[in-house]
Amino acid sequence: MQDPFSNAMAQLNKVAKIKSFGDDIISRLRQPNRDIKVSIPVRMDDGTLKIFEGYRVEYNNVLGPYKGGIRYHASTNISEVKALAFWMSLKCAVIGIPMGGGKGGITVDPKLLSKSELEKLSRGWVEKLSDILGPHKDVPAPDVNTTAEIMAWMADEYGKITGDKTGAVITGKPIESGGSLGRDTATAQGGFYAFEALKEKLGLNKKCDVAIQGFGNAGANAAEIWQAAGHKIVAVSDSKSGVCNREGLNIEKVLQHKKATGSLFGFSKDERGCTDITNEDLLEMECDLLIPAAFENVITEHNADKIHAKAILELANGPIDSAADEVLFKKNITVVPDVLANSGGVAVSYFEWDQNLKNEHWTRDEVFEKLQPMMAASANKVFETAKISNTDLRMGAFILAIESIEQNQ
Ligand code: NAD
Repeated sequence: MQDPFSNAMAQLNKVAKIKSFGDDIISRLRQPNRDIKVSIPVRMDDGTLKIFEGYRVEYNNVLGPYKGGIRYHASTNISEVKALAFWMSLKCAVIGIPMGGGKGGITVDPKLLSKSELEKLSRGWVEKLSDILGPHKDVPAPDVNTTAEIMAWMADEYGKITGDKTGAVITGKPIESGGSLGRDTATAQGGFYAFEALKEKLGLNKKCDVAIQGFGNAGANAAEIWQAAGHKIVAVSDSKSGVCNREGLNIEKVLQHKKATGSLFGFSKDERGCTDITNEDLLEMECDLLIPAAFENVITEHNADKIHAKAILELANGPIDSAADEVLFKKNITVVPDVLANSGGVAVSYFEWDQNLKNEHWTRDEVFEKLQPMMAASANKVFETAKISNTDLRMGAFILAIESIEQNQ
């Protein structure tokens, strides 16, 4: 399996063969402007000192301040963070916001820390990086396993160190700490707007059977949003287990079970028509729309030919590697790529930053009234660009993004 950064660079090499750009822009996009590793000492509750490794990758800032989330995971490493920062650079360009691309992370399983240890670690990450962060320099946000509460600790720590209390240094904050209404569901909602704009072109202008891998911020909100629009959610999964119901899952009940028990495990026991499903089987099941919303590299050359979905919408970053892209394209399975499909998250992060700097507070409706046309216009542009170059939507999105960065450098 390719590591995420090799996969990102394979995608870049592919687009450079499809479309001729100036050599400079491709060379520039092969490396981040800088990648930084820091060690973060944390005094644990038992009195011992533990050192954690943290990262910030500032990939490209031609279009504006670096922007991108912070991931806490035991397997997070600099290669993964570099790939995610590269995709952020393209994502901001695809939806046309004045932001560059960055990403951060800490190698840690946050479930093994107490709340006070987690707070010390999060504040420690900011302390080590406060010189390079800033509302007009580098603006982080949440990603896997990082929450609004963690963003509030980080914004507070940055304010203490620098005196900047605008909160605009970080997005995804709780509403009472300057967060934007709508940021919590923005990634899934944006994906849904992109789907709505493209569904006719994808042959999915009907009530769809939808399977979703990952049941966190992106996946669980997607399940609620697609279900509310009348689609049938036939399977969902998390890191431990999955549940399937061909007649459609009751997502509200699944959410209640997950909240009460911490996982999806055991849900199928008392539910008629419901069975357990593995992550592998979920990816390969017959459905109209498959939404990977967990991790990178879940569809590779090893399982691409077993995918039976009619279309795939990537709410996760990098869930399909470039070898699998080729297989899916040949099988006529359309992939709505991450740099378009999950860009609603960064779009509303940008709205939050804008509100903080102007000291404004938009309603949820105002946020989504701005998001919907942004997503629809970007989706249509990506589709048209791909059509002109006779390529897939990922390459269409890459062409759009790289042209925009090239014109502005
Ligand atoms: P999250 O931490 O809220 O949820 C992650 C989910 O994935 C959890 O349900 C977890 O159980 C599940 N998971 C973990 N490992 C898994 C595995 N091996 N198989 C199946 N499920 C697994 O994270 P999130 O914010 O929902 O992010 C999910 C994906 O969406 C990531 O790729 C992230 O980069 C991307 N994304 C998130 C946002 C956002 O605003 N949250 C924005 C853009 C992209």
